Amino acid sequence: MSTRLSFDDGPGPSTPELLNVLRAASCQATFFVLGHNLAQAMDVATQAIREGHVLGNHTYSHARSGTLSDAALSDEIERTDALLREAYRLADVPVPASIPLRLPYGLEPQDVRSDVLARLKRSHTGWTAILDDWCRPPPSPHALAQSMRQHIADGTSRGQDVLFCLHDSSRFAEARPATVEAVRLLLSDPGWQTGPLAIRRCTGQ
Ligand SMILES: [Zn+2]
Repeated sequence: MSTRLSFDDGPGPSTPELLNVLRAASCQATFFVLGHNLAQAMDVATQAIREGHVLGNHTYSHARSGTLSDAALSDEIERTDALLREAYRLADVPVPASIPLRLPYGLEPQDVRSDVLARLKRSHTGWTAILDDWCRPPPSPHALAQSMRQHIADGTSRGQDVLFCLHDSSRFAEARPATVEAVRLLLSDPGWQTGPLAIRRCTGQ
């Protein structure tokens, strides 16, 4: 059983503080970044990689399914991969054999984007719970942390691994203070750190 955290849509203004929170709890996560945001925050991405986090591809512009041609989607994925490889080079850390990928809004049944993934031989990383921390306004940090605790408890009772999808920014490069605080609350809960489900074990992959 493992509990893992992933963050989509960054890097953004809240990402450095989120890295502080994760570092304080010795927790590694996966960041599915937007190429558009990454191009303007290579320093933050490089720091995240050096601190043991895994960076994944969330396309360049966060276009909805059906709004890009196959060639344009493929180009967005490859452009973002190139930036990710550059961030790993700057961090002096080997690029993962396969860069994780999560499409904007997730992969839906009969998603037209599946053909592009198949052609690029890329698998898709989903989630077991997506938080509504992307809403305006978002739920309170306490409410977010409480839904995470509940999902972890549900996963534990079913013997299932948990993978959260949270958001550390947006395609408009918004700040996400509620997300950062919710993660801080969850990771500082002594029950989770010392209990059978050690959230400290959350891993990047
Ligand atoms: Zn997204």
